[in-house]
Amino acid sequence: MKTFIDALMKKMTLEEKIGQLNLPGSGDIVTGQAGNSDIAKKIEQGKVGGLFNIKSVAKIKEVQKLAVEKSRLKIPLLFGMDVIHGYETVFPIPLGLSCSWDMGLIKRSAQIAASEASADGINWTFSPMVDIARDPRWGRIAEGSGEDPYLGSQIAKAMVTGYQGNSFTKNTIMSCVKHYAMYGAAEAGRDYNTTDMSRQRMFNEYLPPYKAAVDVGVGSVMASFNEVEGVPATGNKWLMTDVLRKQWGFKGFVVTDYTGINEMVDHGIGDLQAASARALTSGIDMDMVGEGLLTTTQRSLKEGKVTLAQIDAACRRILEAKYKLGLFDDPYKYCDENRAKTEVFTTANRKEARSIAAQSFVLLKNQNNILPLKKSGTIALIGPLADNKENMPGTWSVAADFSKATSLLTGLKEVLGSQVKILQARGANLDEDSLFEDRAGMFGKSLHRDSRPAAVIIQEAIDIANQADVIVAAIGESAEMSGESSSRTNIEIPGAQKDLLKALLKTGKPVILVLFTGRPLALKWENDNVPAILNVWFGGSEAGYAIADVLFGDVNPSGKLSTTFPQNVGQVPIYYAHKNTGRPLPEGKWFQKFRSNYLDVSNDPVYPFGFGLSYTSFSYGEIGTSNTSLKGNQTLTATVTVTNTGKYDGKEVVQLYIRDVVGSVTRPVKELKGFQKIELKAGESKNVSFNITPEDLKFYNYDLKYDWEPGDFEIMIGTNSRDVKKVQVNWVK
Ligand code: BGC
Repeated sequence: MKTFIDALMKKMTLEEKIGQLNLPGSGDIVTGQAGNSDIAKKIEQGKVGGLFNIKSVAKIKEVQKLAVEKSRLKIPLLFGMDVIHGYETVFPIPLGLSCSWDMGLIKRSAQIAASEASADGINWTFSPMVDIARDPRWGRIAEGSGEDPYLGSQIAKAMVTGYQGNSFTKNTIMSCVKHYAMYGAAEAGRDYNTTDMSRQRMFNEYLPPYKAAVDVGVGSVMASFNEVEGVPATGNKWLMTDVLRKQWGFKGFVVTDYTGINEMVDHGIGDLQAASARALTSGIDMDMVGEGLLTTTQRSLKEGKVTLAQIDAACRRILEAKYKLGLFDDPYKYCDENRAKTEVFTTANRKEARSIAAQSFVLLKNQNNILPLKKSGTIALIGPLADNKENMPGTWSVAADFSKATSLLTGLKEVLGSQVKILQARGANLDEDSLFEDRAGMFGKSLHRDSRPAAVIIQEAIDIANQADVIVAAIGESAEMSGESSSRTNIEIPGAQKDLLKALLKTGKPVILVLFTGRPLALKWENDNVPAILNVWFGGSEAGYAIADVLFGDVNPSGKLSTTFPQNVGQVPIYYAHKNTGRPLPEGKWFQKFRSNYLDVSNDPVYPFGFGLSYTSFSYGEIGTSNTSLKGNQTLTATVTVTNTGKYDGKEVVQLYIRDVVGSVTRPVKELKGFQKIELKAGESKNVSFNITPEDLKFYNYDLKYDWEPGDFEIMIGTNSRDVKKVQVNWVK
């Protein structure tokens, strides 16, 4: 590779080198405000390194042709896209996917996404998004894997290896981990907002998933929009060079986010000339949309603000990515029109997506085992999301054809046939406020607002509900109420739908809440009043079938939350791996004066991290340990017996947490350190063992040294982060 690129770069003019750093957006798919013009001309002039969000192999082939036939050096282009949770076959939103806690399945979803995208000409995806998020106000919590660095790191690895495989074949594509870094810690949950935190917190809690992606060889990294320690990530040399390249050994290339360089002007870092030089010298290699590097770098070089070596290094990294993808051997490697016709949205892929979707659902409540429903009688399917295709794929489903998605109504009809009579009504609009509904229905994902008065819409639903044996209420958020630039200060179900729910409960019929959401919601009232709640997130193109599969018991739900569900927005940020404080509240207590708590609500969430029910039940025995006093590099084996005590076969995610009781710095009350998803037949028991080594005890200390400290450790195993069995061990060096 080196010889090839050395030779190529010798032929390149300065302008052509800078051209490689330019990544315009095609305008085919809109993911930001600015756009690019004269792209074809720029490609011919060698002023473009890649293009993103252009859809269809035919178009991509045409554009690649311009690069390899019309430009002087015939350098092929990268074709990127936001293939975030599937291509045309859409999987659950990443937050939902993370609740499967099934790395094989998550990896499989990325493999299928890569195979479909590559069949349609794409060779680079802007995924996975691994930003740790502990603030459900932030809409982009939907795009990540939740609040936990350990779970997030496992998922980052699964996704990257799923997309990239062991090598770049025609079915695998380059992955781009994003948004580096700390984007999920936006103040007040407002998108793009400032983040600020100690380096200890960064290294222990926020950086691990990005590092995990780097460790498994992710090809590229995307800089985040936010500032970190007072410097926008895009111009943050410590982040982009010192940590990413020097400390972690990242060898791929770094791309900005959409107009990230230009936005440094508004951040107050200087004009575009200064911001672009700052980005390049900090470690940015490619400029998405903004053309800051394209238009300013020659002058910066003349003025000595950037060096030729820096331009060369960035250009080389882009060329290396193209080389690794095999584009110099065959620029049309990903342009097989036949594949596009036969390998996208296939029956086989959709079948897998349906089964994956069902694994992402989280059963939050199931009073008196009201679920699963029997395949007989009459159900009233009510709610603004009951008969809607467009919203099923969820946010960031840019390649999806919404007309091919399956609504819940269709899914139920097909799964149930004539066994069950289905009555259906809207019952409510998304929200009273039509302008809010417009904002929450962008990108062709309308809920087709009903203009009749709310009372009339509800009454129609109540009339139908009264004729049914059971009510299935399909309500919650619309797809675009989460995702980019979709922050909320109120994280409850919108008022109009809550009114509907209250009216439905008044009928006295059993109500099943099928909850659509892209974020953890505040569900205290619902948990207190609704008998059954199945959280289905946004399940993707096959969501309708998957929900029917779970509601009627063809699939037993096994998802576990990857984020805490608070009682109200005032508790935010609330996460299980918190510190103890000097005045902790005794377990099980609510208010005590001069303790760390609130006057108006307890410290407890409604649903803790790791929580999720099943149609069956599991019991945990006490933890057995191989040893309670350990030394040096020994391995501790901790074992529990888990028994399926219910009537159905089911899957359970057995979770291991560790608390480092005493540290040179304060340590969280517990941290996830392992999990196993097991399958148990009704009545069956299994021993589940975790092998723990000092590697699992390591953390970044005050001096940011990564090591473990001797002392006492609590080993906890359980069904969620709250309900655990506990033993204590002592471990010396
Ligand atoms: C988002 C990125 C995305 C990019 C390209 C930006 O607005 O923050 O996540 O990859 O657009 O569409």
